[in-house]
Amino acid sequence: MTQENNHFNYLLIGGGMAADKAATGIRKTDSKGTIAIISADNDAPYARPALSKKLWVDEEFKEKDTDLKTAEKNNVKIFLSKKVTALDPTAHSVVTTNGEHFRYDKLLLATGSQAQRIPGPESDLVVALRSKADYRKIKALSGKQKHIIVVGSGYVGSEIAAGLIQNETKVSLIISGQKIYDERFPDYLSSQYQQKYLDEGINILVNKHAQKYEVDGQTVKLYFSDGQILEGDGLVLGIGANTDHSLGENAGLSSDKFGIIVDEHLHTSAPDIWAAGDIISYPDKILGRQSSAHVNHAVKSGLIAGRAMAGEEVVYDYTPSFYSWVFDISWDAIGHLSSKMQMYSEKLPGAAEKSIVYYFDDSGIIQGILSWNSKVNLNHLRNILKMKPTLSQLQQVLPLEKVE
Ligand SMILES: Cc1cc2nc3c(=O)[nH]c(=O)nc-3n(C[C@H](O)[C@H](O)[C@H](O)COP(=O)(O)OP(=O)(O)OC[C@H]3O[C@@H](n4cnc5c(N)ncnc54)[C@H](O)[C@@H]3O)c2cc1C
Repeated sequence: MTQENNHFNYLLIGGGMAADKAATGIRKTDSKGTIAIISADNDAPYARPALSKKLWVDEEFKEKDTDLKTAEKNNVKIFLSKKVTALDPTAHSVVTTNGEHFRYDKLLLATGSQAQRIPGPESDLVVALRSKADYRKIKALSGKQKHIIVVGSGYVGSEIAAGLIQNETKVSLIISGQKIYDERFPDYLSSQYQQKYLDEGINILVNKHAQKYEVDGQTVKLYFSDGQILEGDGLVLGIGANTDHSLGENAGLSSDKFGIIVDEHLHTSAPDIWAAGDIISYPDKILGRQSSAHVNHAVKSGLIAGRAMAGEEVVYDYTPSFYSWVFDISWDAIGHLSSKMQMYSEKLPGAAEKSIVYYFDDSGIIQGILSWNSKVNLNHLRNILKMKPTLSQLQQVLPLEKVE
């Protein structure tokens, strides 16, 4: 057991959900080795999806309930507000922004994603939602019929818009398409989504491209490419997130367009360095090499990476599912979803609109599955995807209807 001069047996870079689970994975076999997390965040690891969902709609669920209790659970030393700027795989060491050195026996890279922004000045009135601190800023802006502009109709934008309207806030939702999720879902589902938001009182501006913003006292002005300007008491950006691979790349780790390359054990190209979560390019057993910026992947890959770091012979063979829920709509998905593909729907019995949508490429091979308001076991859907049925094979066993 080593813990001298900032030397740890296991050093985890990034304080997100992947790092939290990696610590659990290590402790499955190694109860004594020293574990440290270095995180650029000001808060210890927490359940990130709650920032745009549960914290807004469940009065019983408080900010403290998002805490993953990483330090207590697994005896981990956590260094907060420290960003690692350089990694030396030969010396087995890292350096932080303020010049502190840490040494390791085994290292995990789990630096996740950073929220995208549009040009404009730093201001507490403008938040690109990613962290707990961002959530607190939005909370401070919300309520009392304040007008918040939300840009983006991915899960962050659509969820925070739903959360805000349920907290006495006026919301304008800016979307680049004609309907919410119209680039992923068939029209009958994105129409349902859109109608729900309109019924709840959200003002939706469609086909809009937000270019930049300015802050004038307590007012934010959002400028669109068509010349329109919208004013609000706050601006929340949910326009996607980027992964930054430079820490690994500058240290000579192999990477590709998906991220830092890992093998099926989540080991990188450098000795004693593993990676997990949003930043990895990994060999998915069903979908082939890819990345996944979703929570189930972060958690499961983090756990496997931790177990592998502690010496277990484990393989990451989980094909991630992803999900969202707003108001009374909930969905789960696996694989690739694009409304440009051929889509076929299977309507399920029940009072609420429930269906499964299957996505096929031009050769008629299945690529993805969306489960809409249904409680279908995701492993069942994962197995269908794994068998790679053609459209005609699936049509022989399921009542499928073509949808646009
Ligand atoms: C508001 C919100 C809602 C979401 N909801 C869903 C959902 O419903 N379903 C779903 O599937 N996914 C959802 N996600 C995505 C999911 O949360 C992420 O995929 C997951 O958290 C990624 O985990 P990670 O550990 O890889 O990275 P992250 O959670 O991004 O954590 C990375 C950590 O690394 C730190 N860091 C970065 N660079 C450095 C550095 N150089 N040195 C030290 N520390 C560094 C960061 O500060 C952060 O603490 C949501 C994300 C957000 C923001």
